This record gives sequence, structure tokens and C-alpha cells, in this order.
Amino acid sequence: MTKVEETTETATIQTFCHGCKSDIKVTVPRAVVDKAHSYPVSHAHLHGDPAHVLIIYIDRQYHIRGSELSETVSVERPAQPQPLNAMVLLRVPRRYRETAMAMLKLRQANSVEVSFVTGKSQNAESKYLGALFRLGYLERVRISRFYQYGIPHPNR
Ligand SMILES: [Zn+2]
Repeated sequence: MTKVEETTETATIQTFCHGCKSDIKVTVPRAVVDKAHSYPVSHAHLHGDPAHVLIIYIDRQYHIRGSELSETVSVERPAQPQPLNAMVLLRVPRRYRETAMAMLKLRQANSVEVSFVTGKSQNAESKYLGALFRLGYLERVRISRFYQYGIPHPNR
């Protein structure tokens, strides 16, 4: 399968997931594929209920060269989660506030996606997201080499 939709920032690829036995669409940041140092590029897509991860390997032309399924996912949570919301945002240290605002908009994102919104570097966003996680505002899931950050549900 190749791209089915694209924007200036993302490409959407359709593929089949053996975990949920259905066709799914996976959206990847184009920067990750277009600026990769080597191919294929791996991308992990967390979805479904129960949650599972489909890792796809994408070549330069956005063809999927392989995929693997992980049926278990571990989610790291800070000791005292303090889910990010508009009120909490005012207490977030100023230097992380733009990142927090981007997360309020995106709900779930990795540092590349946040860097598209804030215009800062991916490295900077990766640091800020890590800090917001440690402060208890975000939860995160580690998927191969990447962290996917999300806003914790309030009553969990
Ligand atoms: Zn699936």
C-alpha cells in the first residue's frame, strides 16, 4: 500500500492490521520519512481496544516494507497525575507552556508532531514533553525508540 492522503505535514497510509483484523489508516509525519537517514523508517501506531501497536516499516516512496504487531503496551505514568487542562495550563512553568498548549490541541502526539505546531525543534520539544511528563501533566507510552505523549484521563 502507498499513501492514500497527504497534507504538507503528514501522509496517510492504508494497511491491514492483523491485531484487529481490519484495514486501518496510519498517519505519519512526512518529515520523519522524507528526512530519514536510512530506510525503511519504523512507525508505531497505537490503536484499538484492547490497545495494541502495529509497527510498520516504510520506504522512501511510502511503501510498507513490513510490519509487526505488539499486543502488549506499557504506559508510564507519573506518581501523581495532574491531567493537563485549560486551568492547569496556568500553573505550567512558562518555558513549557507553548508545548502544553500544543498538547491540549493535539491530545496525543510525539515530539515531531508537537514541533510542527510550536515551530521549535524536535529536540527541544522532546525535552519539554519529558519535563511535562515528569511534572505529572502528561502520560507517555514508549513505542520502539519514540515516546507518544497523551493527556491522562482525569478519573483513573
Ligand atoms: Zn489493529
